[in-house]
Amino acid sequence: MPENSQNLMEKIVSLCKRRGFIYPGSDIYGGLANTFDFGPLGVELANNIKRNWWKNFVHNRSDIYGIDGGILMNPKIWEASGHTQGFIDILVECKKCHKRFRADQIEQSLSVGRQECPDCGGEFTEAKKFVPMFKTFVGPVEDSASIAYLRPETAQAIFVNFKNIIDSFHPVLPFGIAQIGKAFRNEITLGNFIFRKLEFEQMEIEYFIQEKEWKKYFEEWKKEIEKWVIGLGISKKNIRWRKHDKEELAHYSKHTEDVEYNFPFGGFRELYGLAYRTDFDLKNHSEKSGKDLKYVDLKTNEKFFPHVIEPSFGMERTMLMIFSEAYFEEEIKDAKRIVLKFKPSIAPIKAAIFPLLANKPDLIKKAKEVYGLLKKEFPTAWDDRGNIGKRYYAQDEVGTPYCITVDFDSLKKEDVTVRERDSMKQERIKIKELKEYLEEKLNE
Ligand code: ATP
Repeated sequence: MPENSQNLMEKIVSLCKRRGFIYPGSDIYGGLANTFDFGPLGVELANNIKRNWWKNFVHNRSDIYGIDGGILMNPKIWEASGHTQGFIDILVECKKCHKRFRADQIEQSLSVGRQECPDCGGEFTEAKKFVPMFKTFVGPVEDSASIAYLRPETAQAIFVNFKNIIDSFHPVLPFGIAQIGKAFRNEITLGNFIFRKLEFEQMEIEYFIQEKEWKKYFEEWKKEIEKWVIGLGISKKNIRWRKHDKEELAHYSKHTEDVEYNFPFGGFRELYGLAYRTDFDLKNHSEKSGKDLKYVDLKTNEKFFPHVIEPSFGMERTMLMIFSEAYFEEEIKDAKRIVLKFKPSIAPIKAAIFPLLANKPDLIKKAKEVYGLLKKEFPTAWDDRGNIGKRYYAQDEVGTPYCITVDFDSLKKEDVTVRERDSMKQERIKIKELKEYLEEKLNE
């Protein structure tokens, strides 16, 4: 992240639109607040983040099972989870730090002359009956019996499948169930770009444990989360942990800590949450569904509700963090280049192929050969417009780690020039070794 950039956020938003990462939602109709669409590069980046997460937390471990639950679920689930009852307060929200307060409590403080957020001094939104769940109807009749909700978190699909996983896979504690999927919240505050959306993706794990071990596993998950964030190329100085105080804790949590990232709009803000949800969810679902969701320890024959540690990651906040960290402006001789220094493993396009000249059939033929060779291995771009320097800069701006030029020597020597994005260093590589060469670099 450039230290001196005051309007980094505006630059990121503009680059995202211009170069096809992220577009404002419903743009030609004047938009819809807090909605965005991913363009061709955005969807690649999002998929790379999700794939990286899944590999790290599901494939690389033997104690975590993946699922993909439904967005629409039986509304009784949201009663058991406490969501339908828990969110019907009249609330005001601080426009600056987004902390929500019960209106009655704020009114009391207003009577003693307080008109601003007690935490940061920000202005409040109007008081509203705040139900952040989107409601819809299942079937042809719109009555109270057919109400369903778009899930406000992916976690509940995990809890209601707990018994299915036990029955199919017989896991032994501690073990986790992971899911990536959309969640929906009727957010009342306008967000900072994709930081706060109505419709976003969560990457969540419910990690089931014995009650007495919650502190140990909480600490382990803090380390796992940090390791993953740093593995994305994020510098440690830009993240920190913040513990929730009692009033802030969600209705299901006994202890929560947020990992915060130093976002370019207003500093450290919640990136992800880590919550100790106790046995709240399994217990309530057992009670309300009438199904026994207890776990049986086969060694001791003990039967109990496991407790749970929940690391909850937001995909869009991950993306915004990656943009913030990767955006650089550099003066090169008399020109300025904008470069997104993505880690190669998450870059949307891995390589770009340039024929030195666009009007030489032999060069085009050879370059197309190289393009075809790489395109079937990973996302590869083709560019034959303008001069090579401009093509390099266009790829730097979207974070492509390697640019490959096919020139007249390539025709004689069967090799190409490979230019690395960050160092801008160039080397000649034999065409027959190119795929292997790049694959090695891309996995670093
Ligand atoms: P905030 O306080 O910022 O509203 P939250 O505490 O309500 O967030 P959680 O319920 O802990 O969020 O959700 C887990 C994660 O899901 C968050 O840490 C964040 O990464 C992501 N997330 C939550 N709400 C949104 C949203 N509206 N848009 C994008 N990501 C979100």
